[in-house]
Amino acid sequence: MTKIIIAIDGYSSSGKSTMARRLASKIQYRYIDTGAMYRAVTYFAMQQGWISSAGEVDEAALSASMPEIVIDFALQTDGSQRTLLNGTDVENEIRRINVSNHVSTIAALPFVRHALVAAQQAMGKQKGIVMDGRDIGTTVFPHAELKIFVTASPQTRAQRRFKEMVEKGSAVSYEDVLANVMHRDHIDETRAESPLRRADDALLLDNSNMTVAEQDQWLLDQYNRVISKLENK
Ligand code: C5P
Repeated sequence: MTKIIIAIDGYSSSGKSTMARRLASKIQYRYIDTGAMYRAVTYFAMQQGWISSAGEVDEAALSASMPEIVIDFALQTDGSQRTLLNGTDVENEIRRINVSNHVSTIAALPFVRHALVAAQQAMGKQKGIVMDGRDIGTTVFPHAELKIFVTASPQTRAQRRFKEMVEKGSAVSYEDVLANVMHRDHIDETRAESPLRRADDALLLDNSNMTVAEQDQWLLDQYNRVISKLENK
């Protein structure tokens, strides 16, 4: 059976994690949420007191600690995953808005990106992986056999994230979530180190008006197309 690398990039809350996770479980691939890895490093730095309330980062301290930060994923029986930071489950903590507010600053630091990109490349060595993020098709796996770039309007994305957070019991306002989504888009697109951009050979998916089921089918069709092309070569 041919195994490939599937790179799914796109904007915050574009639904790329949901589609990546669902495809991975359907085709029995490993799913890696690279956003969770940047979130875990951010949470670690916050816990150490290395991010001030104004958003200033103690880069020297964080840089020296990068080799000690081990991020892993624990697969649950229902197919979902929990993010582990040095063996501790931090899945709930890394999704909170205080982490969201600082994560793009941490993700723009070159030494953080170098460490996490190397870890991600190691995870994809055996192929059979679906990885989602911002720079998977451009930097992490520029030779991925299937690349998708997902987008939707900021309002649609903020509405989805808001609903998700309210369902989890967070007391946030839609305006705060929209501001956070737009702020992260801006930092992600304008940073010097591997900014968010569509790889030239990535397929574009605007899912503003698509249901989850429609997205799943579209992605599965793309996967089947690539596999049959490779197998009939
Ligand atoms: O995907 P998610 O919204 O959880 O990612 C959190 C943040 O991590 C993004 O806003 C972005 O700043 C950063 N990120 C990144 N590169 C990736 C994945 C995420 O810079 N590959």
